[in-house]
Amino acid sequence: MKSINPATEECIGEYPETGPEEVAKKIESAVRAYESWRIISWENRSELMMRAGRILRENRGRYGRLMTLEMGKTLASAEAEADKCAWVCEFYAEQARSYLAPERIGTDAEESHVRYDPLGPVLAVMPWNFPFWQVFRFAAPALMAGNVGLLKHASNVTGCALAIEEVFTRAGFPDGCFQSLLIPSSQVAEVIRHPGIQAATLTGSEPAGASVASLAGRMLKKTVMELGGSDPFLVLRDADVPWAARWAAVARCINNGQSCIAAKRFIVEREIADRFEKCMVEEMEKLAVGDPLNRETDVGPLARGDLRDELHGQVVRSVREGAVLKTGGRPVGDRGYYYAPTVLSGVEPGMAAFDEETFGPVAAVVRADDADHAVALANRSEFGLGASLWTGNMERGLELAPRIEAGAVFVNGIVKSDPRLPFGGVKRSGYGRELGAFGIREFVNIKTVWAGHHGS
Ligand code: NAP
Repeated sequence: MKSINPATEECIGEYPETGPEEVAKKIESAVRAYESWRIISWENRSELMMRAGRILRENRGRYGRLMTLEMGKTLASAEAEADKCAWVCEFYAEQARSYLAPERIGTDAEESHVRYDPLGPVLAVMPWNFPFWQVFRFAAPALMAGNVGLLKHASNVTGCALAIEEVFTRAGFPDGCFQSLLIPSSQVAEVIRHPGIQAATLTGSEPAGASVASLAGRMLKKTVMELGGSDPFLVLRDADVPWAARWAAVARCINNGQSCIAAKRFIVEREIADRFEKCMVEEMEKLAVGDPLNRETDVGPLARGDLRDELHGQVVRSVREGAVLKTGGRPVGDRGYYYAPTVLSGVEPGMAAFDEETFGPVAAVVRADDADHAVALANRSEFGLGASLWTGNMERGLELAPRIEAGAVFVNGIVKSDPRLPFGGVKRSGYGRELGAFGIREFVNIKTVWAGHHGS
């Protein structure tokens, strides 16, 4: 497995794949680890998870640089990602016990309650875009609940996969609690079929999700799916237009535009559309595109050459379908997978930039007749991950929020993940939730316990 630095196109690491026998051994080791990990005390589990958090904070520079070199995110955002992973470890170390406390329910029994017991080894198939965060937001709650984890990371971030395993090992987690499998996606089916694996989660694209979900479904194993999105960013006529446009550029270009919850369709009331578009073009043109290790850079390269070509293809198709290119719309430089921040105007349903997920710094501006039309356009998507809505009247935003088909609606704020709040999608963006109390209850056995006195 090769890691290619997307800023230079150089190979920076080669790793041997984990062979089938070794994979089987690792699953067996996970099964063994689970037997003791499931009964270890809350205090012990929390202490180890806190230590993992500390290791992440202490090594933010090293882990940040590794992320940047393997997938091109800016160094500052990569270091911030290591900090956020520490936060999720600390958060669940503190909250898991109360989130999973047994709940008493009055029945005809002397004593009846619901318990949240672990399930066992869980397979996590993860993407490269937030190479640490996606893994930790699965692993911290799953391990705190008493499960053990096996990671199949994206093939272009193997260095990160091994570094994450190192965090758990150095923190003192028992052998087998968290292991990386260096396997191509074609071998995921074998792992899911293994009787030792009890459940699976996948964060990634819709086709990958559909494939893993159907395989697991055939084996009757529970899954959580965190898939793609084409998040709407609705701007109502009473919004502060320059302010909304400033945030629009941030929301679109976060992580070089490669975030599932990056805003992708900017649905603007017609009355303010020209002004918004002008501000948006100015904001996108201000962004510094370049070496992600340079702290002045706003937008680094896309993670792989094929992904950049795919994004460019979507822009070209959209223009052919009638969209107007306002800025960008081309690869940048002759080395590295850079793409210019791009604004497409006059985008409508039926065009690639409206119907498909665009994974890069490409903003599609869509005009709406009024707020109702804006909501209808927002919902005219196969996806339903996040949405943000910008208005001078927060109450109006809160009134519209229930009508938007998405797993999260942010009013006057960009969509972001937070360990305290559940995260996930509806429609083809997936199902199940990560984070918060809902996230830690995904991979548990919700067990009814009913008891009466003997002979009574
Ligand atoms: P991807 O190509 O779907 O890959 C994700 C993971 O799935 C990788 O580990 C990949 O392994 C594996 N995979 C791919 N096809 C598979 C298959 N048929 N069977 C089993 N495993 C398979 O996605 P990506 O390009 O890494 O990530 C970008 C996508 O992730 C975007 O669509 C984005 O919106 C989505 N995403 C969603 C969330 C969320 O929380 N909803 C968060 C982040 C990203 P290989 O690398 O070996 O192919």
